[in-house]
Amino acid sequence: METCFRSVSKLLLTTTLRRLSFCRYMAQAQRHAPSANTPTHGSKGVGDPPHGFDYFLVLDFEATCDNKNDPRPQEIIEFPVLKVSGRTFETEATFHTYVTPDVHPQLTPFCTELTGIIQDMVDGQPSLTQTLKDFDTWMVEQGLLTPGVSSVFVTCGDWDLRKMLPSQCSYLNIPVPSHFKQWINIKKSYSQVTGHWGKSMMMMLRNLKLEHQGRHHSGIDDCRNIARILGELARRGAYFQVTSWR
Ligand code: AMP
Ligand code: MG
Repeated sequence: METCFRSVSKLLLTTTLRRLSFCRYMAQAQRHAPSANTPTHGSKGVGDPPHGFDYFLVLDFEATCDNKNDPRPQEIIEFPVLKVSGRTFETEATFHTYVTPDVHPQLTPFCTELTGIIQDMVDGQPSLTQTLKDFDTWMVEQGLLTPGVSSVFVTCGDWDLRKMLPSQCSYLNIPVPSHFKQWINIKKSYSQVTGHWGKSMMMMLRNLKLEHQGRHHSGIDDCRNIARILGELARRGAYFQVTSWR
């Protein structure tokens, strides 16, 4: 009886905390007025997507890690971005590179096991500093920095752009490119559409009745699965807005 009471109390507490976190997010979203890169509904011409983004840039980093204590500093080892059309939700182009860590170039067996990234895949690859330059060139080539073209990054959680990239840039003493300063956390978009917290990519796929494809924790495969969640949320009428800032 007592155990049952404790379980119910724990469940109620968890639900309340999740609701509070969701309300805090909604309040934060209202405080941040849309900027030049976050067009509002109806701000563009007839035939434009209702959410106002020409492209979604789905991004999912993989980084050095270990079973208990991650290497310090943690470093990006895979940098994939999909350019997804805001009209058709099809992927139109891909930026993908593995990245050589500057400080701990040797991957741990745990990291290889988790991500499927073997030592050969990172050896001889560009550093993060070079990768950011290459990515900028790709953005230009893809017309993503052209005035009048709007795009927004999409990630699963806030770790990639709130924690991982800024901390490594700070360690390397290089600025975080300004286009990485706001993004859509797909977990929050999922919550807006379904009313349930999007706990993880695997949970969202399951609940949306989408089969997981590829290898979990491979950055490029994670991007493809996140893009499928994005497309399904759009099909269910999602109105996408920037959810996160730094
Ligand atoms: P993900 O996008 O979920 O594949 O994870 C991004 C990064 O977070 C991975 O490349 C790892 O550095 C770290 N990570 C994810 N899951 C774990 C885990 N179970 N244990 C340790 N590190 C993890
Ligand atoms: Mg991943």
